[in-house]
Amino acid sequence: MSSLHLINHPLVMDKVSMLRNENTGNKEFRELVEELATLICYEATRDIPLKDVEITTPVCPTTCKIIADKKFAIIPPLRAGLGMTEGILQLLPTAKVGHIGLYRDPETLLPVEYYCKLPKDIAQREIFVPDPMLATGGTACAAISVLKKHGADPSHIKLLCIVSCPEGVAQVNKEHPEVNIYSATHDSHLNDHGYIVPGLGDAGDRLFGTK
Ligand code: URA
Repeated sequence: MSSLHLINHPLVMDKVSMLRNENTGNKEFRELVEELATLICYEATRDIPLKDVEITTPVCPTTCKIIADKKFAIIPPLRAGLGMTEGILQLLPTAKVGHIGLYRDPETLLPVEYYCKLPKDIAQREIFVPDPMLATGGTACAAISVLKKHGADPSHIKLLCIVSCPEGVAQVNKEHPEVNIYSATHDSHLNDHGYIVPGLGDAGDRLFGTK
C-alpha cells in the first residue's frame, strides 16, 4: 500500500498557511509553491542510495558518501505540476524533465492524455511526479498510468503534493499501491465541486493568474 509521508516541519506549515490565504497574489503564490517543492523534495530524497568514494581533503585521504545514481526524472502533469518543477530542480539539477498533458473529458469526467514527452530511459530513472493538489487523485493516477505504460517502475515513482486529502490518497492507494506520496499537509475532505477543504482554491489558476 502507498505510504503517505506528511512533511511536518515548521517552515513548511508556515509557507502552506501563506498559500492558503486568499489575499496572497500570483507572484508570491508561485514563489511559495517553488520553495515548498524544494522542501518536499528534500524529504522525498531521504532514502536515495549512497555509495562510497575515496577522496583526499587538504588534510588526508578519506572515504566519503555520494549519491549512487543520479538518474532522476521530474514529470509534472500539466499544468499545476509545472509550478513545483523548478523547486525540485534546485535540489536535483541534473534531473530530466518530461511532461504529461491530461484533460478531463466533460462527458465521462475521466482524464484523457493529449501530450506526453518523457526521457527515453524513463524505465531506469527515479521519478518525481509533482502535483500540488491531490484531490480526487484522477490526474495523479492517470499520470502514473502513463508512466507505467512507458516502462517506469512504480516502486521508483514518488508523488509530491502540497495539499492532499483522504479521497486522493485512497485513490492512489487503490490504483498504484507501490507509489509513495509526500505531502506538505493533509486536509479534511473534498467538497461537491471537487475542491479540497479548506485547501487553497485552484492551484493552477493561482499559479498562472488565469482567474
Ligand atoms: N485542484 C485544485 O487546484 N484545487 C483543489 O482544491 C482541487 C483540485
